[in-house]
Amino acid sequence: SGRWARAMAILREFEENCGTPLGKLRQVADAMTVEMHAGLASEGGSKLKMIISYVDNLPTGDEKGLFYALDLGGTNFRVLRVLLGGKEKGVIAQEFDEVSIPPHLMTESSDALFDYIAAALAKFVATEGEGLHSTPGRQRELGFTFSFPVRQTSIASGTLIKWTKGFSIEDTVGQDVVGELTKAMERIGLDMRVSALVNDTIGTLAGGRYYNQDVIAAVILGTGTNAAYVERANAIPKWHGLLPRSGEMVINMEWGNFRSSHLPLTEFDQDLDAESLNPGEQIFEKSISGMYLGEVVRRVLLKMAEEAAFFGDVVPPKLKIPFILRTPNMSAMHHDTSSDLRVVGSTLKDILEIPNTSLKTRKAIIELCDIVATRGARLSAAGIVGILKKLGRDVVRDGEKQKSVIALDGGLFEHYTKFSACMESTLKELLGEEVSENIVVEHSCDGSGIGAALLAASHSQYL
Ligand code: ADP
Ligand code: MG
Repeated sequence: SGRWARAMAILREFEENCGTPLGKLRQVADAMTVEMHAGLASEGGSKLKMIISYVDNLPTGDEKGLFYALDLGGTNFRVLRVLLGGKEKGVIAQEFDEVSIPPHLMTESSDALFDYIAAALAKFVATEGEGLHSTPGRQRELGFTFSFPVRQTSIASGTLIKWTKGFSIEDTVGQDVVGELTKAMERIGLDMRVSALVNDTIGTLAGGRYYNQDVIAAVILGTGTNAAYVERANAIPKWHGLLPRSGEMVINMEWGNFRSSHLPLTEFDQDLDAESLNPGEQIFEKSISGMYLGEVVRRVLLKMAEEAAFFGDVVPPKLKIPFILRTPNMSAMHHDTSSDLRVVGSTLKDILEIPNTSLKTRKAIIELCDIVATRGARLSAAGIVGILKKLGRDVVRDGEKQKSVIALDGGLFEHYTKFSACMESTLKELLGEEVSENIVVEHSCDGSGIGAALLAASHSQYL
């Protein structure tokens, strides 16, 4: 019928505009490398902030003692304690707790947010038991994973540049987030020292390196997306401090804010951006990460409903609600292998209140999910190739067999299998067979929390 043809025309046009042929991905990778250089050259020199993390030594395995970590970076935060036993014993034991953040605290006030966090931390500290407790007379120490853009001022301080991922609390911007947390802990009488401030990428890099010395970079694909890697200190023109003894410095790229004219963006991405909490920012993130993929799908479906009566004469009212279709819903539909696509059917019914969809309709929706996920996955792969290029590891030099391991983490990478599989196969496509043999993508399962605790250990006041 005419309606179906019109709906398919919208879908095909969207597909066309989302195209990521290898040539385009190479341009994206090159642009990433160029922006990395620019961001390292001068402050404000690029959309990529290329933040100096002050982490110039990654874990060696010698770390010892009981350390805490706190991971704030999305909808949940985790508190964790780990007992480190040094070279022989490694991680002796760990315990953690996960707490969700009430949505109102994401926009209310800095004090309210940090009071909530400090209270949850205090509650967790109170459960220290027989095996895992701190040494009497010794102050507890914490690695704070705070996964928002921070202008780092030392290993344990940094000011918030801006919120992302749905957080928006004006009075935190420009404040030292360690100060904010410390004040909140003091308000409730929790005696704990923040000895390292990192973000999830740096935590994941540190955690990854602890187990595998070939880890050179970390990428997060979760609610948001970001990457960190190990740079030569003398390749950072904007660094005017002393060169670290290791000769290395971990750089927090804040790659979510990357943008390039080569990115395949559509009208839907433009509208999503314009109506977001942070218009004009985090453009790469908005086409890749878990917070947004489902929302892009919803926007395309809405146009198909409004302009081609894709779901019948009435546009389903729920379809008009921003962010109602979450990425986990999208991935559940995308992974549906039942012959009647019943997961797609039930998702449409339960979430969008669209009953009785035909098999043909369901198939088209899977195609739509595939288009959005494929674009995101292929762009992530191009970003990784950008990092490898910057490090000269995108080629094999005189038969060298140096491995480069990239630690990946985040709910999107972990749970959206079609996304991760596509990302990994695209990486191979881009690098070619020979180079690919030396590049390993490793899932670092919650390396971030352990990593922050490890960095707290290596920056302990008692060393
Ligand atoms: P955060 O990034 O908030 O620190 P995670 O790394 O756990 O936390 O990632 C959570 C995000 O991962 C969710 O916001 C969601 O977008 C995505 N995600 C979680 N589960 C799935 C799933 N089954 N399929 C696709 N995406 C998922
Ligand atoms: Mg996280």
